[in-house]
Amino acid sequence: MQDIIQLLPDNIANQIAAGEVIQRPASAVKELLENAVDAGATRIQLIINDAGKALVQVIDNGKGMSETDARMAFERHATSKIRDIEDLFRIKTMGFRGEALASIAAVAQVTLKTKRAEDELGTLINIENSRVVNQEPCATEVGTSISMKNLFFNVPARRNFLKSNAAEMRHIVDEFIRVAMAFPNIFFSLSANGQELFHLEAGNHKQRIVQILGSTYTARLVPIQEKTDYLTISGFIGKPETARKTRGDQYFFVNNRFIKSAYLNHAVNAAFDGIIPKDSFPGYVLYIDLDPAQIDINVHPTKQEIKFEDEKIIYAFIQAAVKHALAQFSIAPSLDFSLNADIQQLDAVSKPFTNEQQQATVSSGLYQTFSRSNQAHAIEPTEKSKLGDWRDFFKQSSINNLQSEKQQITDSRLIRLGGEDSSKSFLQINNTYILLNHLSGFLLVHQQLAHERILYEKYSVAMHKQQVATQQLLFPVTLDLTAADAALLHDMISDLVQIGYVVEPFGNNSFVIQGCPADVVAGNEKNTIELLIEQFKHFSSDIKYSKREKLVRCMARQQSVKAGQSLTDKEMESLVSDLFEYITPNVSPNGSPTYIEFKEDYLDRMFGK
Ligand code: ADP
Ligand code: MG
Repeated sequence: MQDIIQLLPDNIANQIAAGEVIQRPASAVKELLENAVDAGATRIQLIINDAGKALVQVIDNGKGMSETDARMAFERHATSKIRDIEDLFRIKTMGFRGEALASIAAVAQVTLKTKRAEDELGTLINIENSRVVNQEPCATEVGTSISMKNLFFNVPARRNFLKSNAAEMRHIVDEFIRVAMAFPNIFFSLSANGQELFHLEAGNHKQRIVQILGSTYTARLVPIQEKTDYLTISGFIGKPETARKTRGDQYFFVNNRFIKSAYLNHAVNAAFDGIIPKDSFPGYVLYIDLDPAQIDINVHPTKQEIKFEDEKIIYAFIQAAVKHALAQFSIAPSLDFSLNADIQQLDAVSKPFTNEQQQATVSSGLYQTFSRSNQAHAIEPTEKSKLGDWRDFFKQSSINNLQSEKQQITDSRLIRLGGEDSSKSFLQINNTYILLNHLSGFLLVHQQLAHERILYEKYSVAMHKQQVATQQLLFPVTLDLTAADAALLHDMISDLVQIGYVVEPFGNNSFVIQGCPADVVAGNEKNTIELLIEQFKHFSSDIKYSKREKLVRCMARQQSVKAGQSLTDKEMESLVSDLFEYITPNVSPNGSPTYIEFKEDYLDRMFGK
């Protein structure tokens, strides 16, 4: 028997390794921007064509590379940033794994132009499929320009996995924003298909945040600044009124690296407890700096997750710092600095919150103004039940259906309502199920799934045939979004019209809501759109649905009566009769049953009759 194991050729090994680092154009954007930052650039330009599928180019004025380094840079595990394992715990650069350029060169056509200040001529290299196809001296500016063309041209299967241009562009903008927010002292620009989308002059953190999130934030950011021996936390939290239904504006940076951490995010949310509505999210941009030895960055290929030596301290510290800022700026209605006792004792945590400071804050004139509820800017209790809103909506739809309701009651498929007195015909169980007589057995209807089904039908018809009537708003509502959410909403505008929303772009990631379907309760216009965007994102990984289909599903889910809401007899009645108007009433849009039927003979059998 012959031996069968072989070493993979370099280009194949690199292609496989690239899968970890470069998943989409946005991954290359992140790596190239970080390299430019590491090279000490003060100006970084990002140029995109066709959502990065055709071109991702980064031009920087950093330190450039020598001819030999330029060639070496594309080797796997080639890095100038660490030399031994000890260095891993002192990392001050964004990169260190030496994989990005090798990966990019394995899955795209790459052109590098680079020159150091001390060299007269620069170096030009073309690489394709991990092979250098051309290298020559060239005249160029000090710094580096790398362009990556036709990503995955040699791996068609992965190219096919790329999403729509709108979706890929959204990822690119997200990555761009994350790097730009971390380094406000660097000029950044982003152009896509020849149009400049961002032009961010160097400035301080606040200026950069406002440049990115929009000028409506200028007066709505509360600064945070706490310094201890263990760590420093700085940045801004949004005032309660900036809280949204979407998670858009939440950023954590640890040693200038954007990270995702549900745990730390929870710390901020917890500090906002009782200040903003339960289902909304506070905006924040927080920079945490600590000794690199206290974190392990090398737990995730794209370094978006990191491990803290002691995550609990960080959690407690963040929560306390946010509460402190809210209290200092007289936003929190009550001062509650209670912390887990162990953690409280840590100097790191307890330092900023002396009793005197608390006292001083509470007695300050500003605090008093905020806590008196007759003040215009006082913070109201947030437990506003949505039930009222929903009821109004439901009434609307039952009026529309009054006519058909009558017919349905006599329809053979529906349900003998047990005599004239229909109020006895429905029984709500657990505020979730509706029990009703049916033929000689009974039906158990799941109120939320049933309502989702009804709304799904209603919106589908609207989307494909006739438009839902729009009610013009007397006072149009403005909506400020993050760049990424704005891109998404732009894409949805024409479909939204079909279902009754008139939304107009207003420049700078702002929109004006001019009209809404009549169902939407006044005052709720903004929430519904924000929620819609958030849900749309969750659906966006689902490729089997068209954009419209996703929208319809989101709307149905969003507007449906939820399990746990108590319903009046009238409401139950119209829900049931609406449901049976449709041809396939027994499944929800995502395939769960909307009701279960218990037939007489089945019941008899259960009782051994
Ligand atoms: P890493 O950033 O992890 O070191 P990369 O593959 O991203 O690995 O880059 C390899 C090396 O190429 C870097 O260590 C750096 O020395 C050099 N390099 C990459 N991009 C640039 C740039 N824009 N300017 C100067 N040097 C660069
Ligand atoms: Mg790198």
